[in-house]
Amino acid sequence: KQEVKSDAKIDDAKLIGVTVDRDLDFSGWYQQILTKGEMLDYYDVSGCYIMRPASYSIWEKIQRWFDDRIKADGVSNAYFPMFVSSRVLEKEKDHVEGFAPEVAWVTKAGSSDLEEPIAIRPTSETVMYPYYAKWIRSHRDLPLKLNQWNSVVRWEFKHPQPFLRTREFLWQEGHTAHLTEEEAGKQVRLILDLYAGVYEELLAVPVIKGVKTENEKFAGGLYTTTCEGYIPTSGRGIQGATSHHLGQNFSKMFGISVENPLGPEHPKIFANQTSWGLSTRVIGVMVMIHSDNKGLVIPPRVSQNQVVIIPVGITNKTTKEVEEKLYKTCSELKEQLSASEVRTITDFRTNYSPGWKFSDWELKGVPIRLEVGPKDLAKNSALAVRRDTGEKVSVSLDSIKTDIPKLLETIQQSLYQNAKDKFDTHRKIVTEWKDFVPTLNKKNVILAPWCGDADCEDDIKDSSAKKDSGEEFETDEKAPSMGAKSLCIPFDQPELKEGQKCVKCDKPAINFTMFGRSY
Ligand code: AMP
Ligand code: ZN
Repeated sequence: KQEVKSDAKIDDAKLIGVTVDRDLDFSGWYQQILTKGEMLDYYDVSGCYIMRPASYSIWEKIQRWFDDRIKADGVSNAYFPMFVSSRVLEKEKDHVEGFAPEVAWVTKAGSSDLEEPIAIRPTSETVMYPYYAKWIRSHRDLPLKLNQWNSVVRWEFKHPQPFLRTREFLWQEGHTAHLTEEEAGKQVRLILDLYAGVYEELLAVPVIKGVKTENEKFAGGLYTTTCEGYIPTSGRGIQGATSHHLGQNFSKMFGISVENPLGPEHPKIFANQTSWGLSTRVIGVMVMIHSDNKGLVIPPRVSQNQVVIIPVGITNKTTKEVEEKLYKTCSELKEQLSASEVRTITDFRTNYSPGWKFSDWELKGVPIRLEVGPKDLAKNSALAVRRDTGEKVSVSLDSIKTDIPKLLETIQQSLYQNAKDKFDTHRKIVTEWKDFVPTLNKKNVILAPWCGDADCEDDIKDSSAKKDSGEEFETDEKAPSMGAKSLCIPFDQPELKEGQKCVKCDKPAINFTMFGRSY
């Protein structure tokens, strides 16, 4: 048994780990791992949260990945003001109707009332498009592709959830204008693929790509594409990120047009536009999917620290010489790994026992813990412990520079595969209404043949929220929309049988639509 050479008083201070079971109190667990894992802190304005370095660094990695790729596509970054006058905000009717209930207004400066209240952008279509109208003169000015990394404010009244639904959130919003509908359509899909890439390649989160129904599409747009995720513990779907085809709705309202290449006697051509946004919600989805009762589990590609090196096995009997060698080896390992671009830290705190440190880094979700003790030194090896599985592997110090990056990659793939298996086994095809609610209640999302009718969708939502199936399910306010919403019409469709009817009504089905309780 290991004796620890350190200040006994501090050492006895118990690490206050996660005290809530994920499967018993999911939202309590989520709050604890975020705050105790030092990702986020609560703030005294409801619905607003502080992103600490552990989460902000993840956002930075996402930014870099996405920013490089949109720039390669010819998008430039710009910045527009956060304030918008009511006159401009209200220019596109459907759009403002969609956002009006959530818009926050500035009404005062100091103690005097403003002559006209000013809105804080809930999104920037109306902020930017008057200037698109000004800047776009000829078809040579197209396409115009701008993006901004900013925050927006939506004063939502649904229950706020850190990252998933906050009143101010960070995102990027891209806005492009094109000559043709087809070209804009290609832009929409290119961006959607990048969003899926953020989830699948960086965050190890599987998503389903598809198009939103008319009920769920972006207010004022032509159609909305989306990637949808799945949270296994709650069995709910979550909208991952959206890429909208705006058609010519906004360009007609704002006068974004170019002269016809056929000549001045031909009518002007209104631009076809797109807008697309990915927010810090992605971090919450990642946390909910991978983490466990020991705390956060962060995929290696986005983790602030990928490896923590901890010296172990130092006892009263350890000689000064061995102890010094141990610390020196740890420092050298850190240098070696850092040189191989592995984000590595050492934990040399002497006032905590190795066991305490293990729990601390498990709470924070560092993918690999590298333990180095006198016995390991004698064997020229170290013990690598995976955060995701707890699996321990001995690695030779000679090959550590290649073994650790490989192990990080294995962890990344295995997190993705596990999440994918869960999503795949909880996405059920249901063709008859009698099976719909019971299947939903087993924490599934549903692929059902559907008629495409907006009223039928409302009916599905109402009927799946009621307890008419005889089965009980959670209806508290923390689970706001307990009826099943349509999540998307997946691009990847199961085969629709000839004469297949809608799962809810008697009309013929036109596709398979994914439904689920959702955030
Ligand atoms: P939208 O402009 O409504 O299409 O939203 C773009 C993306 O931002 C959505 O796909 C969500 O992932 C995300 N989002 C929307 N509302 C919030 C919110 N209140 N908090 C965090 N992320 C949000
Ligand atoms: Zn129907």
